[in-house]
Order: sequence, then structure tokens, then C-alpha cells
Amino acid sequence: MVNRELVVVGGGPAGMAAAISARENGVKDILLIERDQYLGGLLNQCIHTGFGIEYFKEILTGPEYADRFIRKMTAMSDIEISLRSFVVNLKRDRTLTYLSPGGLCELRPRALIMATGCRERTREMINVPGSRPAGIFTAGLAQKLINIEGLLPGLEVVIIGSGDIGLIMARRFTLEGARVKAIIEIKNCASGLPRNMVQCVEDFDIPIHFKHKVLKISGKSRVESIAVAKVDENNIVIPATAFTVTCDTVLLSVGLILENELIEMAGADIDKITNSPVSTDLNNTSIPGLFVCGNAFKVYDYVDSVTADSELSGKMAAEYLRKCR
Ligand SMILES: Cc1cc2nc3c(=O)[nH]c(=O)nc-3n(C[C@H](O)[C@H](O)[C@H](O)COP(=O)(O)OP(=O)(O)OC[C@H]3O[C@@H](n4cnc5c(N)ncnc54)[C@H](O)[C@@H]3O)c2cc1C
Repeated sequence: MVNRELVVVGGGPAGMAAAISARENGVKDILLIERDQYLGGLLNQCIHTGFGIEYFKEILTGPEYADRFIRKMTAMSDIEISLRSFVVNLKRDRTLTYLSPGGLCELRPRALIMATGCRERTREMINVPGSRPAGIFTAGLAQKLINIEGLLPGLEVVIIGSGDIGLIMARRFTLEGARVKAIIEIKNCASGLPRNMVQCVEDFDIPIHFKHKVLKISGKSRVESIAVAKVDENNIVIPATAFTVTCDTVLLSVGLILENELIEMAGADIDKITNSPVSTDLNNTSIPGLFVCGNAFKVYDYVDSVTADSELSGKMAAEYLRKCR
């Protein structure tokens, strides 16, 4: 069993900011574990601008924002980085197990920061009826396919939900030559930021239907159409308003879930609705020496806030280690 002063799980903006801050606050033996082959987390697929306005007072793309932290962190000799390393188990005493190219590893750090981000809600979670053809994606997956893999998932698109990722993808599909035929939102306003409504939807004349609900997705091997209707003030469907939109692709942009199964596995208290750790302090959990930051702590609108929050968790871990000595 290898012991470490501090382990950070997740090499997105949160994990990198936490590791750098812990080092700047005196922690020397730090290991950062990331399951992907690159550092940067979600930012790698966000090639649009809008990052860093608060933190750097500049408008950067996601990869540019990530690159500043990658350069700073990799220049710090006391931070070891283990890529393609997937943490699969965590115990209450902070013993963690991870799969890496070298095999199965186990270690017990004196402090641990979880910066595992969040994942998208799926069709099953919002109970959209209909058949199960190909062509249904979460918006973030479609973003990864276009921006990282160079694949266009479809040509006639309907987007369910109006979260930021969906609004950004409405613009992205349009710029790639696809037609976004409708955005369907059950609420009476968009879930995403006003700037994304203007820059991604209104500027491209994409139809958005508020107070509408998806009744059914149809299609045999591939999506063929989607049935939609208006809802009343109690969100009850008004059958006479139903209409069909033909399409080959459906994207879901219906919220994010904090990726906290590992800290739950360790026995930390978790709020069953938000999946966030239950604690009186920001970034803390009910297990001493186990901290959470970034989108695993709460879904932030801006990465700049993720960075600020995560720098604090690095400082908290350093203080915890100082007190334990
Ligand atoms: C489509 C989209 C558009 C966005 N647009 C903007 C924008 O315009 N402006 C803005 O400021 N912000 C934007 N954001 C938000 C920003 O990307 C996030 O706030 C930020 O990436 C969150 O950082 P994080 O480090 O907490 O999580 P992530 O970036 O998700 O990083 C988490 C990391 O943890 C790793 N990980 C998870 N589990 C494990 C495990 N078990 N073992 C090892 N590693 C693990 C993951 O591989 C990942 O690299 C956008 C987000 C999305 C999805």
C-alpha cells in the first residue's frame, strides 16, 4: 500500500486548480489521477469562446483555458500526474483503488480531493415515451462526437430541454450544416444562460417552443419523428395542440448530475436529490480529510467559479494536513 500526502481525483479545471493551490499552500507529495488520456476534462470539447472572463479577464475557448492550468501544473515537480487511471473504489479511511495502464493500484492518501465533475441526465431519467431507435444523444455526447471525433451525428435535429449545452449545440449543429428544427422546453423560459439564448438560438433563428412537452419519439432503426404538445399551467398536456416534427436526431439537454458515487461508496453523507455531499462547509464532506470541489460539489454556470471553488479546496486540504501533523 502506497501512502501519499494528497491525492486529487479528476484532471478537469477543478482538479488542476485544487492540485496547484494545494502545492502553493505547502503540500509537497501530490498525485493527480485522471481516467482520460488528456488533462482538461469537459473543457476539451468546449471549443466555443466564453471561458475565463472573470478569472483571466479574457475571452478564451475551453481548451485555451485548460491549457493555462495544464502548463502551470505540469511545471510543478511535486505534482505527479497519472493519466488513463480510473478510480473504481473508495473506502471510508480514504483508501482508493484505481485501474491504470500499469495495473490495479491501491493507495491511502492523508487527504483526498474529489473533482470528478458531473454527467448528463438521460432519456430514461425524464421518462420520454416511444421506441428506442438510433439517433438519440445527450447534448454533451453530440458535442464530443462533433468537436473531438469529427463526426456529425445527424442532419435534422430536435433538442429536448434548453440547458446551456443544448443551446450551444443548437448553434454548433447549424454551423455544421444540419437543421435544428425545434427546441422543446416544458418551462416558460430557457434553463440556460441569457447570453446563450441570444448568441446560440435567437441569432440563428432556431424555433424554441416553451410550455411544450415531448409525447413520443418514433422510428424503427433510426429516429423518424417526435410528437409534441403544449402544456397548461399545471404542465398537463393539451391534446388538441399536438403536432409532429420529422427529424433523424434527438438531443437531450435536461440537466446534470453530480458524479459522487465514489464518495457515497466511502460512506459520506449524500443528498439523495442533488447528489451533493451533505456538509456545513463549502467543499467538505462528512468524512474528515475528504474534500469535493468543482462540478462534483455543485453545478456551476461558469468555469471561473469552478476554479475559485477548487483553489479553496486545495487550501483547505493543505490546512487539514498541517493540523494533522
Ligand atoms: C457543453 C458545455 C458548455 C460549457 N460552456 C461553458 C462556457 O461557455 N463558459 C464557462 O465558463 N463554462 C462552461 N461550461 C462549464 C465548464 O465546462 C465546467 O464548469 C467545468 O468543466 C467543470 O470542471 P470540473 O473539473 O468540475 O469537471 P470536468 O471538467 O467534468 O472534469 C472532471 C474530470 O474528472 C475525471 N473523472 C471523473 N471520474 C473519475 C474517476 N472515477 N477516476 C478518474 N478520473 C475521473 C473526468 O474524466 C474529468 O476529466 C460548459 C460545460 C459544458 C458541458
